[in-house]
Amino acid sequence: MARQMDYHTLHEVFTRFQASEPEPKGELHYTNAYTLVVAVALSAQATDAGVNKATVPLFKIADTPQKMLDLGEAGLTEQIKTIGLFRQKAKNVIKMSRILVEDYAGQVPSSRAALQSLPGVGRKTANVVLNIWFHYPAQAVDTHIFRLGNRTGIAAGKDVLAVERAIEDNVPVEFQQHAHHWLILHGRYICVARKPKCGACIINDLCPFEDKTT
Ligand code: SF4
Repeated sequence: MARQMDYHTLHEVFTRFQASEPEPKGELHYTNAYTLVVAVALSAQATDAGVNKATVPLFKIADTPQKMLDLGEAGLTEQIKTIGLFRQKAKNVIKMSRILVEDYAGQVPSSRAALQSLPGVGRKTANVVLNIWFHYPAQAVDTHIFRLGNRTGIAAGKDVLAVERAIEDNVPVEFQQHAHHWLILHGRYICVARKPKCGACIINDLCPFEDKTT
C-alpha cells in the first residue's frame, strides 16, 4: 500500500483528470432514478456492458417499480438471465420495487440509510445513486478504485470503507463530485490490474508506484 498522497500532488492529479474529462460519466444505462438503482444493483460482480445488454430492453418495458411488479419475478428473471447471480438479483429487485411502491410512493429515497434498507442495495450502490442522481459527493469504492487508490496513494486504506474515507478526507472539495468517475475510469482503462498502462498515464510523473510498466 502506498502512503497517502499529499494535498498538492492530489490537487495536480485531479486537475489533470478534470482537464482530460471535464464531465465524466458512468457507463451504466439508466433512464431515471429507479432504473439507476436497479442497474447498479444488477452490476454487482458483472460488467457494465453485460448489464446494459439486458437492461436496455428491460427498461423499455419496466422503468418504474410498479411496472417491474407487473412484469413479475419470472418475467424479470428471463430478462436478466445473462447477468451473474440473476436469480437472487431478480428476487431483490422485485422486493425492492414492492417497498418503493408501498413505502415511498414509487419514488427513490435520497438518504443513504433509506437506500441501504432496500433489498440488494449496499453501501456502494447507495453511494453511486447519491452521487449520480442526487449530486451528493458520495464516493463509491469498487475494485478498480480500491486498487488504484492504494497503488498510487491517491486514497490509501486497508478496506473499501477506509478508501472511501481517504477520498472524502484528502481529495480537494472542488473535485469531490466527480472523483468517483475519474478514479473508476482511470482504474478501469489505464491503471489496470495486471499490466497498468503507465506509458499512457497522464499522472505518471506524480505516481510513486514502484513497478511501473515502460
Ligand atoms: S503511472 Fe502506472 S501505476 Fe501509476 S497511476 Fe499511472 S498507470 Fe497506474
